[in-house]
Amino acid sequence: MDLDVRFTCRGCGECCRRYEVPLLMRDVDRLAEEVDRSFVRVLVHGKNVDPVLTKREWDLGCVFLDPEALQCSVHPHRPTACRLYPFALSRTPVEGGRAFVELDGQRLTLVAFRSCPAVGEGEPVHLWDLIALHREVMADEKEKAPVSDDL
Ligand code: SF4
Ligand code: SF4
Repeated sequence: MDLDVRFTCRGCGECCRRYEVPLLMRDVDRLAEEVDRSFVRVLVHGKNVDPVLTKREWDLGCVFLDPEALQCSVHPHRPTACRLYPFALSRTPVEGGRAFVELDGQRLTLVAFRSCPAVGEGEPVHLWDLIALHREVMADEKEKAPVSDDL
């Protein structure tokens, strides 16, 4: 199913410098098959410990962002959050949400992040691709295991 939303990445690299990128455990496992585990950093919020991608100090870019070509060096293995961006399916109503989806008894709102300059241009966005990624996030929340000592 296509939405009335278009997106083709311009490759500006802005999102790879702007955000803390959350990692699902399946992201960690997938990337750890390709590269050394030093890409994982943890953020502590009270009792929660969340794995995120490591950033470089000098430009706050993700360690996998090629600073000159502005390309992702692990593109086929990139985390789920990177595959979803600049979209999200939110369980709470969001002002400016673009569409509503009934999924597993939940009403979800499609959110497009306006911080990405490429929203609205390029190829049609396929809703079922976003839903598949959203399900990965939901499954990870259910299965969430403590961060292991060897990270
Ligand atoms: S901000 Fe948007 S256009 Fe720029 S790299 Fe990220 S997804 Fe692509
Ligand atoms: S993994 Fe790739 S797409 Fe994701 S933030 Fe890093 S460089 Fe960007």
